[in-house]
Amino acid sequence: SVRTRFAPSPTGLLHIGGARTALFNYLFSRHHGGEFLLRIEDTDRARSTEEATRVILDGLAWLGLDADQPPVFQSTREARHVEVAEELLAKGLAYRDYCTAEELAAMREQAAKEGRPPRYDGRWRDRDPSEAPAGVKPSIRIKAPRDGETVVHDLVQGEVRVRNSELDDMIILRSDGTPTYLHAVVVDDHDMGITHVIRGDDHLTNTFRQIMVYEAMGWERPAFAHIPLIHGADGAKLSKRHGAVSVLEFREQGFLPEALCNYLLRLGWGHGDEEVVPRERAIQLFDLKDVGRAASRMDYAKLTHLNGIYLRQADNDRLLAEVMERLAKRGLLFGTDTAERVKLLMPALKERARTLEELAGSAAFAVTDGAPPLEAKAQALLTPEAKAMLRDLVDFLGNAPWEQSDLDHWLRDYAEVKGLKLGAVAQPLRAALTGSTQSPPIDAVLYALGRSEVTLRLLAAVG
Ligand code: GLU
Repeated sequence: SVRTRFAPSPTGLLHIGGARTALFNYLFSRHHGGEFLLRIEDTDRARSTEEATRVILDGLAWLGLDADQPPVFQSTREARHVEVAEELLAKGLAYRDYCTAEELAAMREQAAKEGRPPRYDGRWRDRDPSEAPAGVKPSIRIKAPRDGETVVHDLVQGEVRVRNSELDDMIILRSDGTPTYLHAVVVDDHDMGITHVIRGDDHLTNTFRQIMVYEAMGWERPAFAHIPLIHGADGAKLSKRHGAVSVLEFREQGFLPEALCNYLLRLGWGHGDEEVVPRERAIQLFDLKDVGRAASRMDYAKLTHLNGIYLRQADNDRLLAEVMERLAKRGLLFGTDTAERVKLLMPALKERARTLEELAGSAAFAVTDGAPPLEAKAQALLTPEAKAMLRDLVDFLGNAPWEQSDLDHWLRDYAEVKGLKLGAVAQPLRAALTGSTQSPPIDAVLYALGRSEVTLRLLAAVG
């Protein structure tokens, strides 16, 4: 049965390109009723950090892409990588290379002079180890095939070939005894029973070298699917200068994980013109044959729009928790009953916001100690006449029926009695209560703030 893996190196952040690779692996395994595994490729000890591992695990959990088994840490498998290298050595399919650092440097220089990629010339491939110079610690190289070609039937890229004469004898064990990355990946994928390797197409060229290890060990190759990278709007590889790139950043900016997943899925995969593809539907539909070959371009506006759609469908209690956390972070929370106000306003607030940050921003007026500072436009509405009207209104508040459904009528009646247009009452009222010219409907604002808070804010505004 199908088994996929996501194999990030914990050397930095969880990039959305990585998140999309994880998502595709997850969806493919789920679609086929298989398993999705996680391998932390922490063999580069100098660059790998525990913090980066944490960020990856947290990010995947947030996206709802948990692996079906505990993560495998590549560094714990070193003895096995060495064992396989020695097995290849014993079978005569690998050999010890006693080249000195100077010799290797000379080979590289020669290649540079001739304008070709550096290749090891295989000088120790058939040489008798007894000729080895004293004091040189050998590396172990695999014997690359010299004739013919290697063909990969990539599930996304199609058939890809390389002439074997272009491959050189790759190092599988360094002279310090540590396994190389390309070797470790193959041993791990084999031992973990991976059937489909789905990863970024920047790894395509590595595949030909990895295949050498599969062939030499007589292991069955997994199927490969190399998916195009995500580019910025300008077509260059996505980087910080285009905007957010790390999953954590998108989370902080107030994107919902299901919206981000939906967006990343549609980036490079399609089923007709369906834009909103929730998880269950994605699992049902996902297949690698529908993954495009061209690099896709990150479109932040589109993601934001999609996020708004998911936000409007999201559960109000969940949004409330998110918003209160964000408001607390902004240091705005005042008093204990403010969550109740936001809860009452949520159905109206969620209609307008596109991100949780926008949602929190639009809810802020309800939780502050008194109305927030007046925006300039709101300030302009509070003319002497408007203030007089609001002062007058305060007296009427005591008698107002405090039910949301009645407040609208009450306000209309008030305007009529005073011979004013509704807007001439509602707009200054909104300014005084929220500090802004935009808010949810005024009756919802009145009801959420409650009679005494409304009174206090009005008195402060006209005072
Ligand atoms: N560790 C590699 C990376 O983070 C992925 C290797 C693979 O998927 O085979 O780019």
